[in-house]
Amino acid sequence: MDVALKLESVASQMHLEPAEEKQVVVDDAPQIAPCGITVGKQAKRESLGIYNAAMPGGKTIPLLKTMLTTACERNCAYCPFRAGRNYRRTTFKPEEMAKTFHQMEQAGMVQGLFLSSGIIKGSIVTQDKLLETVEIIRKRYRFNGYIHLKVMPGAEKAQLERAMQLTDRLSVNLEGPTEQRLATLAPMKQLSAELIRPLQLIEEIRRTQPAYTGWKRRWPSTATQFVVGAVGDTDLELLQATDYLYHRLQLRRTYFSAFSPIRDTPLESVAATPPIREARLYQASFLLRDYAFDLEELPFSADGNLPHEVDPKMAWANVHLQDEPVELNHAERRQLLRVPGIGPWSADRIMEARRAGKLRDLRDLQQLGLKTKRMERFVLLDGHRPNHQLRFF
Ligand code: SF4
Repeated sequence: MDVALKLESVASQMHLEPAEEKQVVVDDAPQIAPCGITVGKQAKRESLGIYNAAMPGGKTIPLLKTMLTTACERNCAYCPFRAGRNYRRTTFKPEEMAKTFHQMEQAGMVQGLFLSSGIIKGSIVTQDKLLETVEIIRKRYRFNGYIHLKVMPGAEKAQLERAMQLTDRLSVNLEGPTEQRLATLAPMKQLSAELIRPLQLIEEIRRTQPAYTGWKRRWPSTATQFVVGAVGDTDLELLQATDYLYHRLQLRRTYFSAFSPIRDTPLESVAATPPIREARLYQASFLLRDYAFDLEELPFSADGNLPHEVDPKMAWANVHLQDEPVELNHAERRQLLRVPGIGPWSADRIMEARRAGKLRDLRDLQQLGLKTKRMERFVLLDGHRPNHQLRFF
């Protein structure tokens, strides 16, 4: 099979693995790449696994999101690549994958790589092949751009150290928030011993070894993914795990992937998870990570789930700020971040502006570039509730 067909075969299922992508690139692909991949002007780069990816700092790059092999000896219940499923497998050798990526990069089709793999001959052998691929890309092809590498379950400390010297991001998919949920989702995976342990080792390496030994003299960020809603998991379970990962293991990002059933898998008759649940989990996870909310403050209902009809910050504010609005001229940054419509950027703008003079009405905020609609019910400006008539947005 030629490399274009192999990439297409892998890419057909890569949407199941949320990474840094923002949106699919569909209409500005080069026509021919040197590796023989022909991409007509209207062709979709998505079919090869190329996605627009948001980098730290806001830059967007085309990212090749692919796998070394779609063959796998494990049997995760949600996965199209699970062992025994009737599915045509695709495998790249490390040399072949590295060369394919290099040629696509030289052709201007991609500027970064997200590389994962099914597991064949055990996690350690598979991780070695992933590392070999990245090593060729970095050393032989001298690629200095973005690489996000997947860590296999149970990867060894030496492999993690090597990976940390070659990549910008490492991720270990936990898939389930507790041992019990994971046992149904992925019967051959162990949450603590195989999945959390590598993340703990990465954090231990970050704490005990000098960062200048890492790629570009800094350590890679870490991330994970959960499959949401397939096996009765609650938002509380997912966010409890997220809180631990953010605050104890310094993960940069937890991805939530709303479950979608796949034919010929044990979960094929389980209903798909509504996308709004995924959205609410992201909002709540950002409150834990960036807004100094504690897990106990999130508006869980008795069944351990978040409301879908209102976002978690607004739900909290409706209870706590309606009668006790925040005075924007005096509040600490932490209090400002509690107000719907005020994020880290707008909190900084407010603090900067009030050093120069009092904020007296919504117009003052709008002149700072803030959208004021969501905050109006929860703030005071110079001792007064804002006049809603002044809203421009
Ligand atoms: S280990 Fe990965 S590729 Fe293999 S079945 Fe599980 S999720 Fe799929």
